[in-house]
Amino acid sequence: PAPEVITYRVAMIGAPGVGKTALVSQFMTSECINAYDRQRDAPKEQSVFIMLNGEESELCFINLANPKEELDRTDPPDAFVVMYSVIDKASFQRAETELARLQDWDLVRSRPAILVGNKVDLVRSRAVSSQDGKCLACTYRAKFIEISVGISHNVDELLVGILNQIRLKLIHA
Ligand code: GDP
Repeated sequence: PAPEVITYRVAMIGAPGVGKTALVSQFMTSECINAYDRQRDAPKEQSVFIMLNGEESELCFINLANPKEELDRTDPPDAFVVMYSVIDKASFQRAETELARLQDWDLVRSRPAILVGNKVDLVRSRAVSSQDGKCLACTYRAKFIEISVGISHNVDELLVGILNQIRLKLIHA
């Protein structure tokens, strides 16, 4: 019999306009995966199936507009993607606030957090340096990656990275 596919829930957190919706849509069209849209059963949830190291997993993305309230009401997700836009300093500050909150709630000790700087294609408008992103991630022991959904830069790497981080944390939990 086929092995059971485990589903992991991934929370997408970040200021409006940083590209969370665009990123998940891009994941859905990734070539290395099977994607489907659960919109009919659960609004705001989209899933992709990824075969990695001979094992298939499902990642279900949940857009958390209000992590403060929404995380109180549901089981905690298995991973957190905290996103900002490199052309929007305020969104970077918001990312720091969210990371601090996750740490306060002790949610990230056993669950990976990945800090994602999006829109690196907009080179001339950049307002947050790579170094600042790296430092923030380091402070909260998060992983860090810069991407561009617009030009599909590092999007597949992020998708695989999320699953790898979840599996690594499970091994060491
Ligand atoms: P959300 O509010 O975080 O879900 O943000 P959206 O996914 O709705 O994106 C906000 C806007 O940013 C949209 O107009 C996107 O087309 C645009 N956007 C998202 N990612 C990128 C990117 O990597 N580069 C550029 N130039 N625009 C982007």
